[in-house]
Order: sequence, then structure tokens, then C-alpha cells
Amino acid sequence: MITLSRLVKTFGNSTVLDGIDLTIEKGEIIVVIGPSGTGKSTLLRCINMLETPDSGEISLNKLRIDFAKASRAEQLALRRNTAFVFQNYALFANRTARDNVAERLIVVDGWPRARAHARAMELLERVGLGDRGNAYPSALSGGQQQRVGIARAMAADAEVILFDEPTSALDPEWVEEVLGVMKQLASQRQTMMVVTHEMQFARDVADRVIFMEGGRIVEQGPPDQLFSDPKDPRTRSFLRKVL
Ligand code: ADP
Ligand code: MG
Repeated sequence: MITLSRLVKTFGNSTVLDGIDLTIEKGEIIVVIGPSGTGKSTLLRCINMLETPDSGEISLNKLRIDFAKASRAEQLALRRNTAFVFQNYALFANRTARDNVAERLIVVDGWPRARAHARAMELLERVGLGDRGNAYPSALSGGQQQRVGIARAMAADAEVILFDEPTSALDPEWVEEVLGVMKQLASQRQTMMVVTHEMQFARDVADRVIFMEGGRIVEQGPPDQLFSDPKDPRTRSFLRKVL
């Protein structure tokens, strides 16, 4: 279980996250929706320490971190316990699919090369790319590259995988295969937090949908309830546009 309290993030004099409180249960699948510019990516990036929050706290396993005074070691511990899947895959162009997945196991976790490579191939198998381990990203379709990105996140063996619009950069033909891999992970109760515009995915897979606007959580609930009976006028207005 992960708990965020009173998370605040500012850029210059704009407050992008305005006191976020959030609990994520183990095995829970959370989908985050909301207008663009509302702080969804920043929220995920703060959990992974890609951005440093101004204040607030997170607890995750035995870690309890006060962001206002987090040490470098605490930041790294948080980074290690969370994995990130980027909209634009963010693969190393000069490394094979296998090496992209194995990189972290070798560099961060100190695994011997052969063992890391074997684990990477296992994970590529699980995302349907068992035969593409030697391919460089440029030889892979967008859907395949994103599946490598997901295999890399799985390699982290993290408490939670954070997905930031994982299908938004894909040609429509590749969206389903990536969502399929995510559904498979969800069915294994991998804890996930997913920012997406794929409302059908949210309906099918999410335990909870969170609607954010203006750096705040406006409303949250099970997809059935949130989509069919939103309480807040801002949620209603957003859903009218996207459903
Ligand atoms: P969303 O993912 O919901 O579209 P973001 O979290 O990307 O929103 O951005 C929220 C706000 O923070 C936006 O106004 C954006 O311009 C601003 N922002 C995001 N990252 C930075 C940054 N590195 N520097 C300055 N402003 C940023
Ligand atoms: Mg975003």
C-alpha cells in the first residue's frame, strides 16, 4: 500500500499539484483522467521522483519520506520502488530490446549480465516479444517499442508501475496490443496507476478512476459509478466531452 499526503508541486509561481491525498492499495488498478495541463503527469513523476515535490509525504512499504527534506538515498529508494512507462517509450536507441530491459537489472540491481539477459528475455516473452530480443528500437513498431517499455518496467519488480499515457503516441493499429499487455498485468494484480484517455480500458480494468482538475483530485470512484453518475459538475463536463 502506498499513501501520499498533502503533495504539493509548484513550477515557478504556478501550483501544479495543490495538496494531493491518495492511497493506493496493493494490487489496485487506478486510472487517472482529466483535462490536459491539470497535473496528471506531474503527479506520476513526483511519485517516481522524476520531479521533486515541494512538500508532502509518501509512505511505501517501510519507506516514509517527507518530500521537503528527503535525502538523496530516500529519493533513490523511492525511485527503485516505482517503475515508469513513458508516452514516448524512452528506450535507448543504441541498445537492443533485450539490453533495454536488462539495463536496470545490471546497473541498478547489480545482477550478473547473463542472469539479467535471461530475465530480460523472459519478460520480453511475457509481452509477446520473445523473438525480438536482438532487435534495436528502430526496427520495432511503436506498439512493440512500448511493450519493451512495459517489460523494462516489469523488470524493476517495483511496488507500483506508473503509466503516463502509454498509448497516446501510438498509431491506432498498435493501441490494442499495448492495452492487452496492460490488461494481462492487471489480471495478475500488478499495482498500477495509469493516466490515459482510453475510457473503455478504464471501464474494463480500473478498480478506481480518479478525475483531476487544476492540480486537485476532484472526484474518484469505481468506473461504473464515476462514468454513469458523476457528482461534480467539472467531472460531468469533462466526461461529456470524452465519452
Ligand atoms: P497533464 O499531464 O495533466 O497534462 P502536466 O502534469 O504535464 O499536466 O502539467 C501540469 C502543468 O504544469 C502544466 O501547466 C504544465 O505546463 C506545467 N509543467 C509541467 N512540467 C513543467 C516543467 N518541467 N516546468 C514548468 N512547468 C511545467
Ligand atoms: Mg500528461
